[in-house]
Amino acid sequence: MGYSVRLCSVLLAVSLSGCVVVHKESTSPSRDTSEFINVNSTLWMQTSAEYKANALQTYKAAELQLDNALKDKSWTSAIEQQSNYTHLPPAIILDVDETVLDNSQFQADMILNNYSYDPKKWDQWVAKQTAPEIPGAVAFINRARQMGVEIIYITNRECKPRSSSADSCPQKQETMNNLKSVGVQGVDSEHVLLKKQKANWSSEKQSRRELIAESYRIIMLVGDDLGDFLPNVKKGITATARKELVDEYQDNWGVKWFILGNPTYGSWSQVLDAPKSKFLRGF
Ligand SMILES: [Mg+2]
Repeated sequence: MGYSVRLCSVLLAVSLSGCVVVHKESTSPSRDTSEFINVNSTLWMQTSAEYKANALQTYKAAELQLDNALKDKSWTSAIEQQSNYTHLPPAIILDVDETVLDNSQFQADMILNNYSYDPKKWDQWVAKQTAPEIPGAVAFINRARQMGVEIIYITNRECKPRSSSADSCPQKQETMNNLKSVGVQGVDSEHVLLKKQKANWSSEKQSRRELIAESYRIIMLVGDDLGDFLPNVKKGITATARKELVDEYQDNWGVKWFILGNPTYGSWSQVLDAPKSKFLRGF
């Protein structure tokens, strides 16, 4: 995940009712002068029946497309996959955070203890390996595996050495452990691709999708961020242009591309420069 966006994620609450508004001194030049604590967004994920139903609905829709995707050998979901793929084994690419694993406890901790996104705190959260599943994710993954589909995770959890570990990327095993702990079957090292695990694996996921496209027919993409589906949508682009891309690829949504709601952070927020309140449209 593009963790730098977490700093800005608190702004979403402004679009929802009942948000708490806090005015305080900025501690970073990139930070808005006023902040909106991410209370409603996090509460929605943690407490609402609506969020749970939304996630279940997304995964159910994906499951309903599995038969079609497997039968039709010309079916691919990745724009990186253009030719010579019909004979390849099928795979689904999933993001991890807010797609399979629910990190809203980390968001809640930021609110409860009054801090902004801190990579060290995030690393501590990853090391705990206690993120619960996003509703519907595990059942979908295990069903797809039963049907002979390879599951591949492309995550922006970052490989970073940790002083307490001899492993150069302890985050990888921890992520795999967490996925297994929520009931995901068949998690293996070869199919969990972290940011910076290789030199050219940046937060832009395109190069990793291209790599997978060499060996698999990518039948579905599942994520919570437009960057889980398309390249060049995380920075240097307007919110309007991002929405136009949704229209451009309208045939893919709900058929080959499945997106989970994430109001707490994401590139949707990252592309809004400060002060974000200027993007609000009243009547
Ligand atoms: Mg994500």
